[in-house]
Formats: sequence, C-alpha cells, structure tokens
Amino acid sequence: MTRAIWFLIKLAIVVAIAIYLVENPGAVTIDWQGYVINTSFAMLLLVTVVLIGIAALAYRLWRGIRGAPGAFGRRSRARKRERGYRALTRGMVAVAAGDAAGARRYAREADAMLRDPPLTMLLSAQAAQLNGDEKAAERYFQTMLERPETAFLGVRGLLTQAIRDGNQTEALQLARRAKSLQPQTPWVLTTLFDLETRAAQWGRAEQTLLDGMKSGAFPAEAGRHHRAALLLERSYEAELEGHHDDALRHAQAAAKLEPAFPPAASRLARLLARTGKHRKAGKVIEKAWSTRPHPELADAYRDISPDSDPLAQVKRFERLQSMVPNDPEGHVALARAAMAAKLWGEARNHLSKALAERPTDRVYRMLAELAEAEHGDIAAARDWLAKAANAEPDPIWVCKECGTLSKSWRSICAQCGAFDSMEWKLPSVAVRIAEPHRLPPARPPEPPAQPATTTTVVQQPEETPAASPTQETQRGTTAQQPQPAAG
Ligand SMILES: [Zn+2]
Repeated sequence: MTRAIWFLIKLAIVVAIAIYLVENPGAVTIDWQGYVINTSFAMLLLVTVVLIGIAALAYRLWRGIRGAPGAFGRRSRARKRERGYRALTRGMVAVAAGDAAGARRYAREADAMLRDPPLTMLLSAQAAQLNGDEKAAERYFQTMLERPETAFLGVRGLLTQAIRDGNQTEALQLARRAKSLQPQTPWVLTTLFDLETRAAQWGRAEQTLLDGMKSGAFPAEAGRHHRAALLLERSYEAELEGHHDDALRHAQAAAKLEPAFPPAASRLARLLARTGKHRKAGKVIEKAWSTRPHPELADAYRDISPDSDPLAQVKRFERLQSMVPNDPEGHVALARAAMAAKLWGEARNHLSKALAERPTDRVYRMLAELAEAEHGDIAAARDWLAKAANAEPDPIWVCKECGTLSKSWRSICAQCGAFDSMEWKLPSVAVRIAEPHRLPPARPPEPPAQPATTTTVVQQPEETPAASPTQETQRGTTAQQPQPAAG
C-alpha cells in the first residue's frame, strides 16, 4: 500500500515536470567548432538522460562478462562439497549396516569430492575393515595417528586391531598413548586396566584404577574390591622378590579396604603369624569370620596357630564357632578340628548340626571319613559317599564372566583372564573347574605357617587339588563352553 502511494507520488512529479517543460520549452543554441545546434531545453534534457542510461547498461554488461568464470567455479565447488558430504553420510550408514561394497564406493566418492583427508579417513578405514582389508585399514589408522586432530581415532583403530590379534605388548603401548591423549575417557581407562592386569603389571594397574575411580570409569564399590585384589597380587609379588615388609604392607592395605574379603584376611593373618604376631593374626581372622564365615578363613585359622596340640586347636575352633553359632561353616570347621583330635563324638555332633543347616556334599564326605576313622566301618562310609554324590554342592569361587569354578580364589580367571571376577556362591550352572596347570604363575603357593603335623590326620577331599575334573563338573546341570573375553 505504501509502495503504491509512493509510486503514484513519483509518477505525479514526473508528469508535472514533463507538463512544465512542454509548456516552457525554452531554447538552447550550441555553437562548437563551426557546428550549430538549435533545440529546446526539454529535448536536450531527454537526450542527456538517454545517454546516461546507455552508459550504465554498457558498464553492467562489461562487469558481468568479466566475473563469469569465478561465479561458475564457486557454484561448481559448492555442488562438489554437497555431493561429498552426501557420500560421507551414506558411507557411514553403509558401515553401520555392514554394507562393505557400498561403504567402499561412498568412501572413494567422499574422498574425491571433499579432498579433506581428516574427514574421510575414518570412513575409508572402516570401509577397508568391512572389506576384510586389515592392512589397508591399518595404513589409514597410521596416517590418522600423524595428524593431531585425528590421532585419537587412529590410536583407537590400531588398539582394537591389536586386541583382536592378541598382540598384548602393542595393545598396551597403544592404550597408554590413548590415555595420554584422552586421560578421562572411561573405555580408555578400563581397557588399559584390563591390559595391565593381564600383563601382571600390578603397580601400574593400581594407578590406572585410581585414575578411573576419580573419573567415574569404575564404580566406587567395584573399584575398592579391585584395589584390594591388586594389593594382594602386589603382596605376593613383593614376597617373590624377597621384600617381606612390602608384602605385609600391601596385605594390610588390602585387608583394610576389604576386611571381610576372605583371601585378604587369610593372607594378612598368615603373614602376621610368620613374623610371630599370632595374636594379631587370630584377631584378623576372627573379625572377618564374624562378618562372613568362610572355609579359607578356617584353614588360615588352623595354620596360624602357635600351638600344634590338636586339643588346643579344638578349643580355638570352639571359640571361633561360637562367634556365628548357627553357620554351617563354623560346625564344619569345628568338626574337622575335633576329628584331628580324635574327639569323634564332638565331630559327629557338629557334623549333624551342619547337616541340619545345609546337607551338602562336603558334610556327607566328612561323615564318611568319620565312620571309617572311628570304627573302620567301610560299609557306612560307602553309604555316606553315595549320599554325597547326590547332595547339593557347597559354595565355590565362580567366575562371573565365564562361569569357571575354582577351589581357591585367584585375581585372574584361569579360563577367560578376567580380573577380580570370582564370586563365592553356589555353582548353579557349573562350567569348568580351573585346572591347576592352567593357573597364572604370578601367585606363589602359600607355605604353611606351621609344620603340617596337626593337619595330616585330617583328610580334606574337597581341598585336594588332584580331585578329578569329571567328578567336579558332574555337579553342574548344564555344561557350556566358555568364550574367551573379546577384550
Ligand atoms: Zn572367567
């Protein structure tokens, strides 16, 4: 509306000027170099305006012709970039969909259109991997490593390749480099921790764990347990190297972090007993026992005793049992001490109580042993053993990653290599008992604190490492083949 009014006003002004000029034509005479022009003022004005118009038009035409190639180039480049980005997007979709041929085609197109290697390199590497060309993928990752903006992606690609190929040394170096580039990234910290524990680099793994707990890569509770497990390994390592003070210091730190963790308490108690601190050692076991009775604690409690007299042992175990009166572990431990002291009545009494609490395989076996030791009653022993075969199993260490069963706790699963994955529980799905020759070499055998004079009387079928694997696996309901961890 406003524009229309303005147009009308302008039109009115032009018409008014025109009328004025027609009514007052005037006269102009130009005399130049012998040429004389006689005309009206209106005509002169018209001719001047037309000439200015023609000059302006000519100038625009000339500019247009001069700038044409640049504008054409710009439009063509924009079209190429657009095609490049489209190819990049389609390539990523093809990688996600596992379309190897499509990924390769789009990677080439994006590379040709964009000419921006940092942008297209990852797609090219992934396309090469999808096509099974690991060598080409490795070349791309290596090139990415050389540019600061893509170095982390390159490290990640090479690290994944190294882990898959089982190249532990290479993987460890790459994981360290990844940590130096991105120190807070959770998967970097958990991967580095996993590699360091597999390489038995306990000190470095502890530092990585602490960094990971700070950045939230490890939950506080799991982190604390992992740290206790690491400290136990450091304790065994220090002992192997002859650093007995360090061995004790690490065991104390582990037991302080997880006082009720049986391997930590029994390790500390044994080391304390070895330095003559029997009272203190006993306290460590009693504290852990009152939270969670466990056969490993009972074994350590027996071994750390300064008194080899079987009757004195019975007294000690009576005190231990009274701390958690209704727990079957206490009855079993006391019955064992009583059998060693040939107190058959007391042994039978506590085995009956254990049987009432939980009628397991181990209790029936001990009853068989008792029948044979007391009266030489082979027939009764055989009856008990028959019952043992059908009884429910006792708790055992079970790897929560692969389900492997182990009689003793290990920080590294002998089957799948997972760290601190053993849980003390009933083997609902038995898979495989770790065979002694497959156990990792890092942990030395625990020497007994006392000469085994008090323990040789007691047969411990469930503690003997030579138990046949078939006998052990038959406890399970199904057998499945564990897969090694993918790393
Ligand atoms: Zn495992």
